[in-house]
Amino acid sequence: MPTHSLNDNQPIARVMVAGTGVLGAQIAFQCAFSGIDVVAYDVDTACLDRANARFDALGRVYAADLGASREQIEATLARIEGNTDLGSAVAGTGLVIEAIPEDLAIKQSFYRSLSAVAPADTIFASNSSTLVPSQFAMFTDRPERVLSLHFAHEVWKNNIAEIMGHPGTDPAVFAHMVQFAHRIGMVPLPLRKEQPGYLLNTMLVPMLIAALSLLVNEVADMQTIDKAWMIAKADRIGPFGILDGIGMTTVYNVTRALAERTGDSTHRRIAEYVKTHFIDTGYIGESVGRGFYRYPDPEFLNPTFVAA
Ligand code: NAD
Repeated sequence: MPTHSLNDNQPIARVMVAGTGVLGAQIAFQCAFSGIDVVAYDVDTACLDRANARFDALGRVYAADLGASREQIEATLARIEGNTDLGSAVAGTGLVIEAIPEDLAIKQSFYRSLSAVAPADTIFASNSSTLVPSQFAMFTDRPERVLSLHFAHEVWKNNIAEIMGHPGTDPAVFAHMVQFAHRIGMVPLPLRKEQPGYLLNTMLVPMLIAALSLLVNEVADMQTIDKAWMIAKADRIGPFGILDGIGMTTVYNVTRALAERTGDSTHRRIAEYVKTHFIDTGYIGESVGRGFYRYPDPEFLNPTFVAA
């Protein structure tokens, strides 16, 4: 039987976020913005310097997007402390949110080291996008306190948190994470079982692959495919705009892996298309101002795009 900790009834006051890259920095900032003390842990001070620049940038984004005041931003920044020593970073935390690279070997080694120094009650939650918690729970000393807490890019506005346990996750820990997600301004989306891709990507990835298939099979051009989705589904963005937001590096990794797995000729053509048009040219999406569309004013946002 799983063990229930007294701490599972108490709100978490201090969180360690491991990995302060794209998502880790956003998660750390969102937790601190919600009034929680955060230890931002990364491997060296150069990473923490980059994280501080990310936090400053996020402060400007929260002011612009959420109307956060200067006082709120300053209080948020004051709640985040950087640390490169795992033992002192995790001391006194009720929760570790892991956002280190999507590499099973790196994650396993991290969870082994973490288990050796973390307080016995600390919950380990992974933000992994493609791995499931049973893949790393066994490398910890507390599998019943391990689960996934998966955020979406730009957490402050795409505010879902998908919560997924493995068969041995303590239900009290799971319930605690649902409450925690809510507390930091996320809409908690609990999953009843392990599912690679969680809810959103299980639905979204096949739709995006279908759109790319229509394109490489020359059934229609990208604008026409996007219009079909946007007008009929009353959506402000279509599949090619979504792909630009995700970024072509990730799109290439996913489509290449799919082509290798299935050997399907359309999947192979998609991966080749993404490589030649985007990876080789450096037009890797919205973040660099050019992907399928040009930014910051992509044509699909112009009201005439979907006009009759
Ligand atoms: P990233 O490469 O931007 O950041 C990873 C960070 O982890 C870096 O700062 C790196 O220095 C640090 N790191 C490396 N090894 C470490 C270790 N042993 N201990 C502590 N820190 C370490 O990656 P990311 O895009 O933020 O992704 C992180 C995780 O979040 C992945 O599991 C990914 O699947 C998931 N995720 C990413 C997105 C996204 O849109 N980028 C969305 C949802 C989930």
